[in-house]
Amino acid sequence: MPPQVLAAMGEPVVHHRSPDFRPIYERCLARLRDVCRTQQEVLLFTSSGTGAFESAVQNLVSPGDRHLVVSAGSFGERWATMTGAYGADVDHLRYAWGETPDPDDVRARLREREAKAVWVVQSETSTGVVADVQALAAAAKENGALIVVDAVSSLGAVPCETDAWGLDVVVSGSQKALMTPPGLGTCAVSEAAYAATGSTPRFYFDWERTRKAQAKHDAAFTPSVSLVAALDVALGLLLEEGLEAVFERHVRLGRAARAGVKAMGLELFSPDEDRSAVVTAVRAPSGVDSTDVVRGLRDRFGMTIANGQGDMLGKIFRLGHIGWFDIFDITSMLAAVEIVFVDLGVDVERGVAVTAALEAYEHSRVA
Ligand code: PLP
Repeated sequence: MPPQVLAAMGEPVVHHRSPDFRPIYERCLARLRDVCRTQQEVLLFTSSGTGAFESAVQNLVSPGDRHLVVSAGSFGERWATMTGAYGADVDHLRYAWGETPDPDDVRARLREREAKAVWVVQSETSTGVVADVQALAAAAKENGALIVVDAVSSLGAVPCETDAWGLDVVVSGSQKALMTPPGLGTCAVSEAAYAATGSTPRFYFDWERTRKAQAKHDAAFTPSVSLVAALDVALGLLLEEGLEAVFERHVRLGRAARAGVKAMGLELFSPDEDRSAVVTAVRAPSGVDSTDVVRGLRDRFGMTIANGQGDMLGKIFRLGHIGWFDIFDITSMLAAVEIVFVDLGVDVERGVAVTAALEAYEHSRVA
């Protein structure tokens, strides 16, 4: 967290329907629209990203409705389970973990079988793949389907043009590239999506209820005022840096991470491409359990990296580079990985990762 964001968390807690809070709320919502690049009101829920996603499911899924869920990792699979739990007739376009969803597959599936909405993950945090949401949205639209996007780990890190790409629902959470503690979920909703809401019972996550309240710069329910104040500051920082500059920084951090990993002689699991600017996933060399790498970084250096999820547990480790990150976070992380590998008796090329990462960062200019 940027220190300014932490400082906002420490401010006195004001009443949420008082003049002390309303300007903060109003400004935060306006900034959220700017970061989502939409003219629509972005709904703000006191929940994690999964809660905001559940709002989309509750509002758009009625039992028996046909929906196409695209998955290529843990979060896509979660959305297939969740839409199914609400009674959707789910067509699950399921890729192996680590693959990149192909818009032509979406087109073909929708031609075979209509769907009310296509549900996709922009940044599949479990694998490091960032999908081409613009192209996936075009495939959905051509076939008359709404497009719902999980942008929990991508909003504010990579481009997500809600209005320009015609995205109907864009869900995110406060704790990733939005540089705020966990606890707020966001949901941009198009007029077409409001018009398509279904019959599933709902209350807290009813879009209309929150939309009406927000239109009066009010909240439908007691919001987490400290988190809203923190998010307001964090969004201000992103907008002050400039979204294009923020996206470029993330691309360069991704390039640096991949260059360092490859220089050590390790194999990437996430794609070696600029879009992969959120998480760099790395295969543990044979004979190494990635759990030991994660533990080594935590215990020796107090650094948090992530293990693989599901079947990837123990097989990959993931280096995050979204949010309040600069090049030295990457070089420190790479240096620590190298030391931990040496501790584990792995024969990695030593001393090269930091140099390669710095070179990739310094000499790379985004086209
Ligand atoms: N979707 C993606 C892509 C995520 O990375 C995460 C969390 O890591 C989620 C959804 C779930 O969000 P939350 O943990 O805030 O409920």
